[in-house]
Amino acid sequence: MGRASKTTARELIVRSRVELSDALVALLCERLGELLGEPVTIRQERNPHVRGAIIYLDEQRQVVIDTSAPLKEMQRRLERGVTLAARGGQRASDIIVSQGDVPLISVSDTNLKRALDALRGRRVRLEARAPVDSDVTDHLAAKLSAAAGRDITVDMRVDPRLEASAVLYLGEGQRVVLDDRFAWLRDVTASLERYREAGFSPDETYDYIRSIIDSTQPELRLEEVREAGRVLEVGDGIALVSGMGTVGSQEVVEFENGALGIAFSLLTDRVGCLLLGSEDAIREGSGVRRTGHLLKTPVGASLRGRIVDSLGRPIDGHGPIAPDAMRPIERLAPGITDRMPVDTPLHTGIKVIDALVPLGRGQRELIIGDRKIGKTSIAIDTIMAQHDTDVICVYTSIGQKASSVGRIVQTLTESGAMEYTTLVVALPNEQPAFRYIAPYTACAMGEYVMDGGGHGLVVYDDLSKHAATYREVSALLKRPIGREAYPGDIFYVHSRLLERSARLSAELGGGSLTGLPIVETLAGDISAFIPTNVISICDGQIVLDTGLFNEGVRPAMDVGLSVSRVGGAAQTRLVKQVAGRLRIDLAQYQEMAQFVKFGAEVDQATLDQLTRGERSRELLKQTLHNPMPEAHEALVLFAVVNGLLDDLPTADLARFERHVVDFVVRARPGLVTALAEGTRMDEALEDEIRTAVDECKASFTVQVETEPTSLGLADSMVSEEEVGVAP
Ligand code: ATP
Ligand code: MG
Repeated sequence: MGRASKTTARELIVRSRVELSDALVALLCERLGELLGEPVTIRQERNPHVRGAIIYLDEQRQVVIDTSAPLKEMQRRLERGVTLAARGGQRASDIIVSQGDVPLISVSDTNLKRALDALRGRRVRLEARAPVDSDVTDHLAAKLSAAAGRDITVDMRVDPRLEASAVLYLGEGQRVVLDDRFAWLRDVTASLERYREAGFSPDETYDYIRSIIDSTQPELRLEEVREAGRVLEVGDGIALVSGMGTVGSQEVVEFENGALGIAFSLLTDRVGCLLLGSEDAIREGSGVRRTGHLLKTPVGASLRGRIVDSLGRPIDGHGPIAPDAMRPIERLAPGITDRMPVDTPLHTGIKVIDALVPLGRGQRELIIGDRKIGKTSIAIDTIMAQHDTDVICVYTSIGQKASSVGRIVQTLTESGAMEYTTLVVALPNEQPAFRYIAPYTACAMGEYVMDGGGHGLVVYDDLSKHAATYREVSALLKRPIGREAYPGDIFYVHSRLLERSARLSAELGGGSLTGLPIVETLAGDISAFIPTNVISICDGQIVLDTGLFNEGVRPAMDVGLSVSRVGGAAQTRLVKQVAGRLRIDLAQYQEMAQFVKFGAEVDQATLDQLTRGERSRELLKQTLHNPMPEAHEALVLFAVVNGLLDDLPTADLARFERHVVDFVVRARPGLVTALAEGTRMDEALEDEIRTAVDECKASFTVQVETEPTSLGLADSMVSEEEVGVAP
């Protein structure tokens, strides 16, 4: 074991569970040598308690390698990990995180032979992530037959949710997890086609496969004997199972009737599983088997425009989905060094949000408020506003009625937003497990976009229902309760979801995933348990207020309570320039309006401020499903902030807004372009806007006349007279 150390070379200790292959040791020596700038030898120490391997660089620094990761991944981690470790300071566990869910060990050819000797019968079963060409299974059968010294037949089964690329079952209790080279099976199958088309001979094709197989090390991994379990109790979407003492948390288990479940509550004598399928035919004493993998969801471009359930299965009747890949629904969030600050705006098309609580790509912004006051509408409008951008959206519906989801689908389809949106839907009548996993599935889909360097937006509608679902399953599994009967880890349930929203660093492709969780409050109480939890996880919140909604202020955003802690950095300078004033105008208006309501006498300056504030508040109202391009927003916000609309009756403002936008689009396309591109508001641009607004007023018919400072108290008078309002 290990290499003889030369006198000049530095000896590093590698502690691992199994003996590392020579190829891997050589690779390690080379990489570590490069890093440390001196020749390195490696001394191996076996330790059965280590998962994967740990390389001790010196007292302070160590590198952890998880061998359950494929070689390519391992190499990548090694490169990154070593570079980071070289900067010093960090603990190894911060740098490289092992995420394998099943303990896997390497197996040499002799182990394989021993395993095959133990095999009674001649049939083995190969489960693979993708369909495998019969050429490949034949090749495998030949190899196994040679190792066993007798004929072995390979049966094939496809399971796209498999964690490993392929698993070989040897009789009852043993399985061999086939390594990375089978991760290329799909490539191999595809290349086989190409080779055939190109007229290559079968010999050349086999050589190609062999070259792939030979170029990969380590060879095979044999998994510990697995255990089967028995159902003790089933009902309400959960099953209590005995046995399966080695099952991992969140591991997928399979029941006799083919239904899947998630191992959820691990106790010493029993395991509580959430069912993801029918309870039919599962009864006391039925068998359950471990699958050794985490729950996965299909991801990729083919999901756009589709409606799927929490397992990523289509429910829109548009046929099967061929995903780019399968991704675990849960994953560790990117670490600090993997991220960079939010610096690109996420345009929502909603004036009040873009101006006062601007969002950035990679941000988490909570939408919170009582029921039926436009929470979902804000999220849907934001998705619609991504129409001409490169943002890919995922909308999660957790426990909303099918009819509500239907309306959302209709809105998105009619506006063309469905093309770049996936809906993950967990209906209220489904088993609780579906409602529990829906946001994680949606997040994995968005993450795939982010990992590819793209920009994703995920809406979780809503996390209050998600928390209630979690409370429900926890109660069924008799987990101890915490505050307001929510289980103690409810904070972690939401934080590990929302932390996955990120802006990735340039080295990782610079992609982003923006998260818009929604939380419903009772009687506007944003200081209740779930609201405070989620507020503390997010980078800001959009607070909707029932009072405002009923007064007709829509979107009913409470300007005082809503914040965006990071988005300001991403706001375009144009909007930023006008937004500062707007905030002050609104705040002053709020204060003085109260004052005036009590009949206080006011001077002219105050009156002017009231006029301005009233216009501002009116202009920030926006109709449903009508997101505005940024240039239009900048135009009208500039107009109101600079008092250009003070002389118009408040009630006519919405009409004038449309009028001025139409006018500028039609008669001054140059101005729109300047505003769209504009990085700042210079004098020339300002003059142009002023002139445009004035011209617009000249051709505008005031229909409703009110006193400028009426605050809606005076009776409105309708007149049809044509007025050129003096500027
Ligand atoms: P729920 O509690 O049911 O989830 P919600 O808070 O998500 O409700 P929405 O469904 O978005 O609220 O909206 C509730 C109602 O308010 C809808 O009928 C919608 O048409 C109306 N509404 C929301 N925003 C606006 C708006 N900007 N202008 C006009 N009406 C609006
Ligand atoms: Mg809603």
